[in-house]
Amino acid sequence: MDSVYHDEVEIEDFEYDEDDEMYYYPCPCGDKFEISKEDLLNGEEVATCPSCSLIIKVIYNPEDFQKEENQTARMLIAKA
Ligand SMILES: [Zn+2]
Repeated sequence: MDSVYHDEVEIEDFEYDEDDEMYYYPCPCGDKFEISKEDLLNGEEVATCPSCSLIIKVIYNPEDFQKEENQTARMLIAKA
């Protein structure tokens, strides 16, 4: 079965930039695939490279991200 994706990569293998809230993964062209945390929260699963036309599928469990957000929200409420 052919796939439009260059590869499928687990989110754990991405490099996370906390300042930008972006996930990066090396692209064969020398640039990096990128997908934002917000995209993942919205159910997006395609990371794109700004320098070429390759795309990769991000393997992750959306519930993990939802839970993380809920925990943060609860912590903020507890602090208030
Ligand atoms: Zn590329």
